[in-house]
Amino acid sequence: MSGSLERPFDHVIGGTETPGARGEHASVKNPATNADLARVAVGHADDARHAMEAAQAAFDGSWWANDDGGRRMRALVKLAGILESRVEEFALLETLNMGKTLKESRGDMGFVVRTIEYVAGLADKIEGETIPVPGARLDYTIREPLGVTVHIAPWNYPLLLAVRGVAPALAAGNAVVLKPASLTPLTAIAFARLAKESGIPDGILNVVSGSGGEVGETLINDSRCRSVSFTGSGDVGRRIAELAARRTIPATLELGGKSPVVVFPDADIDRAARGIAFGIFGNAGQMCWAGSRLIVHRAVHAALVEKVAKLAAATRLGAGSEPTSEMGPLVSAEHLGKVAEYVDSARSEGGTVVTGGAKVTTESLGNGNFYAPTIVDGAAPEAKAVREEIFGPVLMVHPFDTTDEAIRLANATEFGLFAALWTKDIATAHTVARRLEAGIVSVNEAPVTFPQTPFGGFKGSGLGFEQGSEVVRQYTRRKNVVLNLSVPKPKA
Ligand code: NAD
Repeated sequence: MSGSLERPFDHVIGGTETPGARGEHASVKNPATNADLARVAVGHADDARHAMEAAQAAFDGSWWANDDGGRRMRALVKLAGILESRVEEFALLETLNMGKTLKESRGDMGFVVRTIEYVAGLADKIEGETIPVPGARLDYTIREPLGVTVHIAPWNYPLLLAVRGVAPALAAGNAVVLKPASLTPLTAIAFARLAKESGIPDGILNVVSGSGGEVGETLINDSRCRSVSFTGSGDVGRRIAELAARRTIPATLELGGKSPVVVFPDADIDRAARGIAFGIFGNAGQMCWAGSRLIVHRAVHAALVEKVAKLAAATRLGAGSEPTSEMGPLVSAEHLGKVAEYVDSARSEGGTVVTGGAKVTTESLGNGNFYAPTIVDGAAPEAKAVREEIFGPVLMVHPFDTTDEAIRLANATEFGLFAALWTKDIATAHTVARRLEAGIVSVNEAPVTFPQTPFGGFKGSGLGFEQGSEVVRQYTRRKNVVLNLSVPKPKA
């Protein structure tokens, strides 16, 4: 285990673990049982300012921003290696805190390791340009780190989404302050404890836990904050964009989704059914890019719904730490209540629950936040459960007759994060992929992403992107330098 669960999970500020100025702790729970799991420091505004101060001091005073990028690369590779050697511990910690299955947590940790390695490889390739200009001049650009960057993470992929923002900022030479979600701070804190061992200077990687309203806003409003990367809900993202605009600092926003999965009649229906089930029941549906709206051609509607419903009904629910579990609990009892409300609203707005539609109340799972994988067919396009992100294992189904109708239904949402389509026809694949309003499109694939591919949403799903080869440059600023090379004529 990444540090015993008895040991409190304190903030990591300036290379030191601290309970914070007020020394308060709160419990986080195991969502499989709702029993207390570990004690976490409760941060306040003064702790946020302390973290910003430590980060700025490390940025100004350590080698991190000033030495050759190769040195940062080596420290990051070491960090990735240490994490890789402890993947099992981190995966278990993630599972106990967030609920997802161990298989899913192991996958997340692999992605984290690979993300750090990938951006480490970019740390010594942050290059400027020379620009031809008139006259006897040399003009060139320099890419500099921004300074202190702030990163605010959600609870659904606690470490993965935290590191997705933090790692490229570190590779670019910034000092970072990370605020994990209050429900799931354990792996982020355990991760920050590895910085020292990796040779990252104290104060370059700080984690302060606490509420978004107090700790998060204090971090962004601090004059030392030079950029913010945020992953979370739309309302909070828009609030963060406002705060960032007031301070004229950049904000990267990765927000929610209501992603369509369009299935054409020529698709391989068995493969599609498995991909669809994975895309909505994986991580118990708590995925920003969950394929939550199935838009299926009428000719295969009944057959496909039946196949996905069979997979849903056969899914083994259980504590994520049990090796046989295929789907874990929702993150909290409160979140389960919201998911259940959405399903009830879908019922009252014309939807038929094909499978699921209830909390699991068996003796072994009744204390946890387990909700059965659910399919709702035929709810009106304007129903609340069709328009809004549910963030749970709930698939809404809509039949279509023509390709134009399918695209209209797919794009009829305020979101634009992800879209999937299933067809064997290459022309349909390319033409429909172009017409879907989504930052990420997959063809004959369940949702899949890699550290080297850009990840970002259109429309209400966000601003900017994470991942991909340009992401490290996003955490730099560009300076233009012009030199006059003319030699003055000797005086006569
Ligand atoms: P959330 O918006 O409630 O919280 C996200 C983070 O923001 C938390 O750390 C929270 O403490 C903090 N926060 C809350 N209010 C704040 C404020 N006023 N100022 C600064 N920080 C504040 O989101 P959540 O419930 O943790 O996560 C679920 C949401 O995240 C869903 O909408 C999901 O779609 C989205 N998400 C998006 C992506 C993506 O890549 N696009 C990935 C995962 C999750």
